[in-house]
Amino acid sequence: MGKALVARAPGGPEVMDWVDLPDGRPGRGEVLLRHTAIGVNFIDIYYRSGLYPWPEATMIPGAEAAGVVEAVGEGVTDLRVGDRVAYVLPFGAYRETRVVPADRLVPLPAGIEPATAAGALLKGLTAQYLVTASYRVQAGDTVLVHAAAGGVGLLLGPWLAALGATAIGTAGGPEKVALARRHGYAEVIDYRADDFVAEVVRLTAGAGCNAVYDSVGADTWRGSLKCLRRRGVFVNFGQSSGMIRDFALSDLAAGSLTAIRPVLFDYIVTRAELLTRSADLFARITDGTLQLDVVNTRPLRDAGAVHADMEARRTMGSTVLLA
Ligand code: NDP
Repeated sequence: MGKALVARAPGGPEVMDWVDLPDGRPGRGEVLLRHTAIGVNFIDIYYRSGLYPWPEATMIPGAEAAGVVEAVGEGVTDLRVGDRVAYVLPFGAYRETRVVPADRLVPLPAGIEPATAAGALLKGLTAQYLVTASYRVQAGDTVLVHAAAGGVGLLLGPWLAALGATAIGTAGGPEKVALARRHGYAEVIDYRADDFVAEVVRLTAGAGCNAVYDSVGADTWRGSLKCLRRRGVFVNFGQSSGMIRDFALSDLAAGSLTAIRPVLFDYIVTRAELLTRSADLFARITDGTLQLDVVNTRPLRDAGAVHADMEARRTMGSTVLLA
């Protein structure tokens, strides 16, 4: 038996109940994990609130976790009881134990702690595919990133800097601006105080950016398009301020722009792709490129309070729930 946070209906953080759930037995190709650390991501809020549809009547949010293998199902040959692993799946991780398909598990290299993995796997794989696949960043590029002091934002800054790009960030308030500046961003704009489009024009001497990574959505997308240079790429990978509803393809005619709306799970479809991208991420953690110094920890039971803080824009870096 283990504890879990189960949302009984779409709504606010209060819809998640702390309940007992049986452990489950691993079937063919599955393992039973005991979670040690569970990452909190904005996607958990999209599911809890009902912005993303639920496949069943109730929902356990949670898109990434790290843990230890407790039991191995038939046909699983590459994992043993006691192995340390982590995974990303769209939902279902806010629980102490879970049966997971073995082919979705990433073994943790020595030196990478479970809390580190749970705070960095989903966000880091996202940063990895964004800079290598959604738009392939080149040395010398200038790139704009919104919510630069957030979980994904603090990983994108140093990653972009390591690729030789000039990263311009936006963040809400002086404390977040100062934090992003310490994480790879050459310039950071307080977009609650200043017009970020005017600032990008000024900082790039009118040239604009090669790409914009925009996870804020409704509030920023129009301005983001204006920050691009001719033939620039608009990467909209989230909507923390709400869905983009009024976009027209003809909006891209102002400079022959490209737009993409990528989703992590389409970039880790095969096990080989999952492991290749994870290896790149773990290498960037162990060589010190990524600074994982802003990981907040809370007990699993407090996930609702973390959601409330994220929705109110009070969090910085990533938050990990300890099971
Ligand atoms: P963050 O830690 O970045 O939190 C979201 C941040 O968005 C806030 O801290 C806030 O920063 C900013 N924000 C701007 N407007 C609002 C608003 N109205 N309400 C709340 N927040 C707002 O979250 P994550 O690192 O977990 O995720 C970042 C984004 O990346 C999310 O949109 C998420 O959905 C997306 N994502 C997409 C993936 C994909 O594959 N497509 C995968 C992973 C994440 P500030 O105060 O500085 O404005």
